[in-house]
Amino acid sequence: ESPASPPPSDANKGVENLVIIGSGPAGYTAAIYAARANLKPVVFEGYQVGGVPGGQLMTTTEVENFPGFPDGITGPDLMERMRKQAERWGAELHQEDVEFVNVKTSPFVIRSSDREVKCRSVIIATGATAKRLRLPREDEFWSRGISACAICDGASPLFKGQVLAVVGGGDTATEEAIYLTKYARHVHLLVRKDQLQASKAMQDRVLNNPNITVHFNTEALDVVSNDKGQMSGIQLKRTDTGEESVLEAKGLFYGIGHTPNSQLLQGQIELDSAGYILVKEGSAKTSVDGVFAAGDVQDHEWRQAVTAAGSGCTAALSVERYLVAND
Ligand code: FAD
Repeated sequence: ESPASPPPSDANKGVENLVIIGSGPAGYTAAIYAARANLKPVVFEGYQVGGVPGGQLMTTTEVENFPGFPDGITGPDLMERMRKQAERWGAELHQEDVEFVNVKTSPFVIRSSDREVKCRSVIIATGATAKRLRLPREDEFWSRGISACAICDGASPLFKGQVLAVVGGGDTATEEAIYLTKYARHVHLLVRKDQLQASKAMQDRVLNNPNITVHFNTEALDVVSNDKGQMSGIQLKRTDTGEESVLEAKGLFYGIGHTPNSQLLQGQIELDSAGYILVKEGSAKTSVDGVFAAGDVQDHEWRQAVTAAGSGCTAALSVERYLVAND
């Protein structure tokens, strides 16, 4: 053996097995599996959502569709449980945002404002952010009338049997509108342009549904409340005539898309045109060996806590295999 090539144990000295970026259901599930496999994962939890770890579910109240909680569980409670489980198995958690990633070198380099970590593998679980309209009273009514997820909130007592509205003209908005007809008395679809951008099939389903009224050339200006402080309607403006009106509605759903939090990796791994990380079909592998992705940052379709958790599990198990194969 040449003295220039040290034995493998020295080569990996000071190099962590795995860094996980993100603390939503994908990141924590990956952390639980990796920690139980003795990989001693280092987790950058981030604090982008409300200054706390835990991801998107920290911004919601009841989660009614996560298996194992027949009476529902609040989003923050669910995430705190996942966090504790990861910690119990020895995941090293840091409440820091990653500011820099280099996966073009070996080992990879991950940096936050407080530390720099070198590692053999990375799981990107940075999630996605629902696009918002930034209405003046949006924060006041977020989760109390305004939602970005029909599947999550449609069956809530707040919306059942009520008149609801969906904003957007693409596939997401049309799917949300159709989904909401299961629960709502009537659904209004608010479309800024004079036509829908959704696929032809979705357009037909929406336009032919007697429980959906499509309002073209219409934008939402704000929500309106009653004297009990509950949402009671939406202030609308016609984009062609400028005419304003109020539509009676108890809920407003945003179907205007999501932004995947993949900016850190731009130019280093393959992303699709919307910025979602591309993974090989049915796996967590990205275009760079040793870099894996899980959760909403690689999933523009399902975007559920349980699917994010499932893909976090797949990513951690894939890392385990990868490290063994590259020992
Ligand atoms: P996220 O939950 O988005 O977490 C991403 C994490 O990455 C965050 O912790 C963030 O701080 C961190 N991060 C981002 N950038 C960095 C960085 N640079 N450095 C370090 N960390 C970083 N789904 C359901 O199944 N049921 C529901 O009832 C439900 N309700 C919802 C209600 C609301 C209001 C919202 C917004 C979503 C809801 N969802 C629900 C969807 C669900 O929250 C997501 O599908 C799920 O959280 C995705 O998990 P994730 O781990 O991929 O990412």
